[in-house]
Amino acid sequence: MAGKDYYEILGVQKNASDDELKKAYRKLAKKYHPDANPDNKKEAEAKFKEVNEAYETLSNPEKRRMYDQFGTADPQGFGGAGGPFGGRNGYYSYSSSGGFDGFGDFGDLGDIFSSFFGGSFGGRSSAKNTNGPRQGADLRYNLDITFEESFLGTEKQISITRNEVCNTCHGEGAKPGTKKQTCSMCHGTGQIKQTQTTIFGQMQTVRPCTTCNGTGEIIPEPCLECRGKGTVRKQVKVTVRIPAGIDENQTIVLRGEGEPGEKGGGKGDLYITVHVKRHSIFTRKGQDVLCEVPITFTQATLGADLEIPMVDGSKETYRIPDGTQPGTKFTIRGKGFKNINNSSQGNFVFTVLVQVPKRLTKEQRDLMVELAKTMNEQPPIKKKGIFGI
Ligand SMILES: [Zn+2]
Ligand SMILES: [Zn+2]
Repeated sequence: MAGKDYYEILGVQKNASDDELKKAYRKLAKKYHPDANPDNKKEAEAKFKEVNEAYETLSNPEKRRMYDQFGTADPQGFGGAGGPFGGRNGYYSYSSSGGFDGFGDFGDLGDIFSSFFGGSFGGRSSAKNTNGPRQGADLRYNLDITFEESFLGTEKQISITRNEVCNTCHGEGAKPGTKKQTCSMCHGTGQIKQTQTTIFGQMQTVRPCTTCNGTGEIIPEPCLECRGKGTVRKQVKVTVRIPAGIDENQTIVLRGEGEPGEKGGGKGDLYITVHVKRHSIFTRKGQDVLCEVPITFTQATLGADLEIPMVDGSKETYRIPDGTQPGTKFTIRGKGFKNINNSSQGNFVFTVLVQVPKRLTKEQRDLMVELAKTMNEQPPIKKKGIFGI
């Protein structure tokens, strides 16, 4: 430390004024700041330390006087560990990750540094721009429809509550006849830029304006209808077209039917998720309609023309062959669900349930006995008990 020419380091004359010292120091500190010299951090760090040391001494009248007189400002001598400039109590230090971790005994300049690094150094800005266009929020709606409606398609009117542009002020937020004013605090930008004079020069930090909540405008006389918001909560009816073939949990998107945007931002969307109620007869599997059709054992045995109810309410005649076994599946092609994306259509698949009669007339029973004889079966057990006792 001894022998260093602090005036030379700062590039000033011996009789430099405080202002000249400060100006020179700012310029050099900025130039040699390690963060500004990523390619030669080591050298910049050494220079930076030197510049700090010079300024720390010369900016203090007492130390400057001592330095001028003795060539050092260190009363202990030549900058030992206990001296005011030596050892770990330097002006800054590096953490292992290479960033600054403080400025030690840098006095009030340390505060400038810390606010500076939390601020907008190198173009970084922690303040979010709150004044730009904002997209309106999306809305969601769950819509119950019947099985038939999902099969045939339908149109539904749904009621949703959303923000609508206020009719009284047309979205301005100002009472009719009055006007919004540009916020005088932020001059309409919605942001407050604070300029700080630091050792590196003029630095800016940006934060949202609290006077106008970042909107850039103030409303001296708010609209009574919307209290200055420009929007009001309203129940509105929206028509939804449900395509034929829509399935459980599928979602229809109505673009622009969500919340209105702000500051020229677009409207949000409305997402309608469809829930299909269960049907007492029909179920759905993929594109197919499934159903169970009860038939008598004589129909199963002899064959029959069946009248099958379709989902759309019509009927299809279907001939089942003689000897139809219980549980046999039959397919009526092209009578299933439409595909909402193309023109394909599923099938109608029914399963026959053969029903055994629980009660017969005397005549039917006699016939059955005769039938049984011809089929080489034991005559049926009289209705006494399982073993005929
Ligand atoms: Zn209004
Ligand atoms: Zn403002």
